[in-house]
Amino acid sequence: MRILITGAAGFLGSHLCDKLLADGHEVIGMDNFITGNAQNLAHLAGNEKFSFYRHDVSNYIFVSGKVDAVMHFASPASPNPQSAAGYFNLPIQTMKAGALGTHNCLGLARANNARFILASTSEIYGDPEVHPQAETYTGNVDPVGLRAVYDEAKRFAESLTMAYHRYHKVDTRIVRIFNTYGPRMDLEDGRALPNLLKQALLGQPLTVYGDGGQTRSFCYVDDLVDGIVKLLYSDEHMPVNIGNPVEMSILQFAESINKITANKGGITYVDARSSRDPQRRRPDITRAKEIIKWEPAVNLEEGLRRTIPYFKEKLGLA
Ligand code: NAD
Ligand code: UDP
Repeated sequence: MRILITGAAGFLGSHLCDKLLADGHEVIGMDNFITGNAQNLAHLAGNEKFSFYRHDVSNYIFVSGKVDAVMHFASPASPNPQSAAGYFNLPIQTMKAGALGTHNCLGLARANNARFILASTSEIYGDPEVHPQAETYTGNVDPVGLRAVYDEAKRFAESLTMAYHRYHKVDTRIVRIFNTYGPRMDLEDGRALPNLLKQALLGQPLTVYGDGGQTRSFCYVDDLVDGIVKLLYSDEHMPVNIGNPVEMSILQFAESINKITANKGGITYVDARSSRDPQRRRPDITRAKEIIKWEPAVNLEEGLRRTIPYFKEKLGLA
């Protein structure tokens, strides 16, 4: 296939480029670098099967030649209010990437009779009242809350995707991605893993927000990419959760990082996020297991071991 990946210079987009090139496809990357980094694609320079467009997907998308699949991953993704790369500080761009960007990508898929996959998120469940979250749960999102610029854009993107599927018969898929980590994360974007692992490698105390009792389930990037590609190759049109169902509190997560890195800096408790930080999050992956025969294989310890060399290099500790 000839596959367009938007958000290609980001964390997940760049890993998808690698995986799909390794599977023998031709890949066209697209990114405007608002939160991504050209270095994430530098190793693909000279690869004849890879090309790149610098473009904002909120504007009309032109790609020369036939496209067989469109993977829409372009969006700011960090909820950290302190980070310039966080969606609180890019509110309009975030809503445009989710709304106008999704519309442009669906239009391109329709014109090419191509399959389409939307990178959605566990955030569409908001601060969930149902646990774990199955795809049938419709969520608890405040439309005017601080996280709404991201959550509602993704919810709109899902609705638009289903409208193109039902009305225009576009061959669409929706992946609801849960917290994922690995090499090529932006060390400064303020998400939990980059913050905590960076602090641990620098021998600093780990900043746990609130009492650290809020839970997440962290998936290693190779597992996630494997699930997304299986979904791309499938015929499933309804949303599918992809994430690791091993749930832990953020305090436990921080303690695991301190243990694996032998950090003596301990833990420091800081004020909880002012945004409505979801208190519990764990994917129900029954559908992924049944439909695409997928489940994660990399546990937290192994995933951290694979991630640490990248962080050390970026911190000048390698
Ligand atoms: P990222 O910030 O590393 O990558 C996003 C990429 O999109 C960046 O390279 C950025 O420059 C690009 N981008 C943003 N707006 C754009 C625009 N208008 N035009 C062109 N490019 C644009 O984030 P990520 O973690 O790799 O996330 C990728 C996708 O996966 C996002 O859609 C995100 O919502 C989704 N997602 C990620 C996670 C996770 O844990 N990483 C969880 C749920 C959903
Ligand atoms: N968190 C934390 N310390 C940090 C960064 C994040 O305790 O330095 C917590 C945050 O409050 C949230 C969880 O880690 O409960 C995951 O945050 P992240 O930014 O990775 O994404 P979210 O899951 O909230 O979208």
